[in-house]
Amino acid sequence: MKTVCAKNSCVGCMACVEICPVQAVSVHEDVQAYNAVIDEEKCIHCNACFRKCQNNHAPQFFTPLVWKQGWVNNQEMRKASTSGGIASALIEQFLAEGGVVCSCAFKNGVFGFSFAEKGEELPAFKGSKYVKSNPLGVYKKIEHYLKEKRNVLFIGLPCQVGGLQTFLPAALQQTLTCVDLICHGTPAPKTLELFLSQQQKSLNDLNDVAFRNSHSYNVSAKGLKPLKGETDKYSLGFLSGLFFTENCYACKYAQTNRVGDITLGDSWGSSLEKQEQRKGVSLIACNTERGKELLSRCDLTLLDVDLESALEHNGQLNHPSQKPKNREKFFALIAKGKSFDRAVFLCLPKKCLKQKLKRVAFALGIKK
Ligand SMILES: Cc1cc2nc3c(=O)[nH]c(=O)nc-3n(C[C@H](O)[C@H](O)[C@H](O)COP(=O)(O)OP(=O)(O)OC[C@H]3O[C@@H](n4cnc5c(N)ncnc54)[C@H](O)[C@@H]3O)c2cc1C
Repeated sequence: MKTVCAKNSCVGCMACVEICPVQAVSVHEDVQAYNAVIDEEKCIHCNACFRKCQNNHAPQFFTPLVWKQGWVNNQEMRKASTSGGIASALIEQFLAEGGVVCSCAFKNGVFGFSFAEKGEELPAFKGSKYVKSNPLGVYKKIEHYLKEKRNVLFIGLPCQVGGLQTFLPAALQQTLTCVDLICHGTPAPKTLELFLSQQQKSLNDLNDVAFRNSHSYNVSAKGLKPLKGETDKYSLGFLSGLFFTENCYACKYAQTNRVGDITLGDSWGSSLEKQEQRKGVSLIACNTERGKELLSRCDLTLLDVDLESALEHNGQLNHPSQKPKNREKFFALIAKGKSFDRAVFLCLPKKCLKQKLKRVAFALGIKK
């Protein structure tokens, strides 16, 4: 099997698939790893896929100019978002100024990317989708908008921002603004499918899916049994880094220097009152003047942040997630036919028992 980059290191940005003039590249999406595979019978050896692969280049990183914590002043927008709602504020401002926005949305069972020129797409963008999304099809469209001198805002995972920047000629990036999310890793959508299949559901059955409100993590969707007082096994495995795809454990973007004009994450380690934190507080890095200017035009509350504490509480700003020793056991259990929940239980017994206790405390009314 000939691959575009080193085996099992593909991030799934899809730039190689999009650039190939003869459709010879396809990304094999396994639960454990992605691989961009070249069909040697179709390949014309133009090397375009190698040139556009971010794993074959050093990305351009910016040292943040300023770090802040904060939230959008529109409280409804803040409530509907995962963290402080800064992403929605940036999108709304960008659209109001006549720009085009491209970001991740869940549609027809796929975590893909959509374009918006008007406010109606905003609800689909809201919320973190804790799964590897798929930007296939957006690169050439963004290139087209940039050639027309339109302002484009792209919000995505750092490896997707890196993919876009590697794909586009530097000269075209003058009107492109990128926002990267702090990311501790992503499971393949197939892993989420395994979790859903326990309830005889598939992503294709769902109209919408949420992973978190500002303070609690759970996969929720119409048609799924809601869990009360505890975190479900998908979210528990996600938070523990149990089943990310292989590339995430060697992520070159997990550092303080960033690829986007703006970086967004959670203000973990904040000394703000708990009540404020429960409403959602974002950590924000302005990495370029362009990013700083866009933020200054939005209606936000921005406060100073203790950077040392933020870096201490957000490991992804220092190093990639560590591969847990039970990761292989998890996939082996799944391969042997164990249910998703059982496999997570056997790999993370202490964390699962703690959730059981939380469930009991909730049922007894001891915990809300
Ligand atoms: C997989 C993943 C892992 C994360 N890990 C961390 C972490 O370890 N530490 C931390 O501080 N923050 C992490 N975040 C970021 C955090 O969850 C919030 O998304 C971020 O703080 C912005 O919040 P918000 O309220 O401004 O916007 P939100 O309402 O959360 O919207 C975020 C924006 O990101 C886009 N988006 C959502 N999911 C995806 C996805 N899967 N792929 C591409 N784009 C997406 C949305 O379309 C939207 O434009 C992670 C996010 C994701 C998606």
